[in-house]
Amino acid sequence: MEEGARSCLLRFRHRLEEDMKPPYLMDHMISDGVMSMDEEEKIRTQDQAVALLELLLRKDNNAYISFYNALVKEAYDDLANLLHDGLPQILSYAQNNSSDGLTSYVKMVLSEGGVPQRPVVFVNRQELLNRVREKLYQLQKDSGWVTVFGMAGSGKSVLAAEAVRNHGIIEECFPGGIHWLSIGQLDKPDLLVKIQSLCFRLEQSLNGQCLNRPPSSLDEAKERLRFLMLRRYPRSLLILDDVWDSAVLRVFDIHCRILLTTRNRSLTDSVSGAKYEVEVESGLDENKALEILSLYTKTKPHSLPEEARSIVRECKGSPLVVSLIGALLKEKPNRWRYYLSQLQQKQFKRIRKSSSYDYDALDQAMAASLEVLPDEHRKLYKDLTVIEKDIKIPAKVLCILWDLEPEEVEDILQEFVNKSLLFVDSHNKPYLYYLHDLQLDFLVEQNRDQLEQHYRNGPPTSGDEESLYWIRFLTYHMAKANLTQELYSLMFSLNWVSIKARIMGPAHLINDYMEYGPILDKEVRSQFQEFLSLNGHQLEQRPFPDVVQLALSQPQTSEVYRQALQSFLHLDLNH
Ligand code: ADP
Repeated sequence: MEEGARSCLLRFRHRLEEDMKPPYLMDHMISDGVMSMDEEEKIRTQDQAVALLELLLRKDNNAYISFYNALVKEAYDDLANLLHDGLPQILSYAQNNSSDGLTSYVKMVLSEGGVPQRPVVFVNRQELLNRVREKLYQLQKDSGWVTVFGMAGSGKSVLAAEAVRNHGIIEECFPGGIHWLSIGQLDKPDLLVKIQSLCFRLEQSLNGQCLNRPPSSLDEAKERLRFLMLRRYPRSLLILDDVWDSAVLRVFDIHCRILLTTRNRSLTDSVSGAKYEVEVESGLDENKALEILSLYTKTKPHSLPEEARSIVRECKGSPLVVSLIGALLKEKPNRWRYYLSQLQQKQFKRIRKSSSYDYDALDQAMAASLEVLPDEHRKLYKDLTVIEKDIKIPAKVLCILWDLEPEEVEDILQEFVNKSLLFVDSHNKPYLYYLHDLQLDFLVEQNRDQLEQHYRNGPPTSGDEESLYWIRFLTYHMAKANLTQELYSLMFSLNWVSIKARIMGPAHLINDYMEYGPILDKEVRSQFQEFLSLNGHQLEQRPFPDVVQLALSQPQTSEVYRQALQSFLHLDLNH
């Protein structure tokens, strides 16, 4: 029943209870089909007026209208007048069924089911929305699962809520109602509590009270829910928001209709029934993203400062990031340049805003995805920092990097893709894999701490796998993390040259100097390069030659010579 109608009944409850004689009224209501003989029977055994109102409050708009008409027919004009203002506007459904189908009926169904409202600033993603609705229509006749998947902050929950904010969908597919359940990362006891409160909610809106004791185990909860959905709430939709674990889905594997949002595409593999999926693109197109900034800052799109476009470009239109920055700008309208530079410098921690979103900042949203990976895969995922921005790589490259069999690598990559941690370009054969810019930036940022530690501990020297990795990629990561000063002293260290040459050969080193040439001192770099090309063949020899000796034959003005001399003297002193 609509809020206005219910409120009227409650407001005038006592007047109604005192003045009306239910038997005749109930006859009208039975003939209108809004009340059953059983219900009438039950009411007759109690304080009739009180019981009738009690029942009415649990019924829908039609029951209210029928009750109103009965009052008129039975000449209770005063009482009817009291209820007149609360009459639900049934006829106006069609009229106010505006393009987005947002009728008061829709609002009521959604608020009863706990479906979140639109974010304060909202842009429509019509094409995506249509795709989700199309899949929901597949559930019209039969039970099944619709999975909405995509990376952190891509707008899955907003989309799921929007998909059901539509008169047609509710009326044609889910007249039994829509029930929203925020899942998130939870353990079994938490899950049980969630389902207990769902059962409570469902039973309460049926009986006005909940007589059953709450289910005490997940199995029991599953059975209770099965009964409720099948018998009491046929043709209703459960929305499970932000599901991480397929064990959660198994509890809901009860032949009902489910829409779920997740970062993990393959969650429904372990449940039965028809399955449909919709992928949510990670970013909004430029105009939509600019619209968000423009709405937050109350600026016309064409008057937005130039930083607006850069912000959108920098985060590839991520709805979460654009909204976070929009909300910050709303309060500090002259910080465009500041937030842009924070974004460019990957200062994700500074771009935070407490909001209804589960994570205050982007780094937390991203980190959550990583935390659920098994340890060994998390480590491999971090290695993906070697992928360059905007570069797509075939699985073969990762076979080398990880030193694993191609099949194993494919499985791992598939897992990452399924969990929205990695993207795949499947138009290409072999498939090409790539990271979203935000993921890459996040990884580099995470690695920075690790890098600095590696650097502080001195260059790795042993031949174990971990060290090999670092010897190979340390320079790369440092450059990526903008640790210029550290990169500088590493690459201009004869000690490092000696270690890397011994393990990887001089070619790798020369390559490093070429690669990072632009950020290194030209003069010193050419001295090191010259040393390497002159002695390349020697450095290939085993046993490995004495690098200090070789370096001592460099010109005395060379930094290579200076370091060699120093370490020679040092050695000498120690002896
Ligand atoms: P996900 O469920 O994919 O992690 P959400 O749907 O919770 O992402 O969206 C994250 C944030 O992005 C929201 O809190 C909101 O601020 C913003 N957002 C998402 N979709 C939209 C949209 N269509 N219009 C405006 N803001 C949006």
